[in-house]
Amino acid sequence: MHPVNPSSRTAILAPGFQGTRTARVFPNGWDESAARFQPQSIAAPVEELRRLAQQSIQLEHSVIALTYEEESGLSVADRELFWRAFGVPVFEQYVDRKCRLLATECEAHAGLHVVSGCDEFRLERETCACGDRSPRLSRGPRVEELVELLA
Ligand SMILES: [Zn+2]
Repeated sequence: MHPVNPSSRTAILAPGFQGTRTARVFPNGWDESAARFQPQSIAAPVEELRRLAQQSIQLEHSVIALTYEEESGLSVADRELFWRAFGVPVFEQYVDRKCRLLATECEAHAGLHVVSGCDEFRLERETCACGDRSPRLSRGPRVEELVELLA
């Protein structure tokens, strides 16, 4: 399973994933070979993205924040940090310990559409603004804002 948009040249900065025609895996994270690849998009765990946010890396397409099973989702603060640092849209992709994609954020940024599993979560079942009817994990900035309003 690869967690990325296949149309853009993507550096996956984490071990365990498989490359594709347009995505290359750099299991040790950002290094010179990743820089030479000149990715348009980066897919990386939140920790790695925080580290990269300190450097001036130019991206053209997107940032994919990989979040793992049994860990917390992408926070609003990290999402804003990555947006400011990289200047491209941020998408969360939720994967299991074997790097299989479980849920993925769409263009509407209204939660993560379930790809497989996720039975332990309460899911949104209304049709998403993107038109996709698959259920979504109720998280992401809108949900957190709502939670804050209701608190
Ligand atoms: Zn959607």
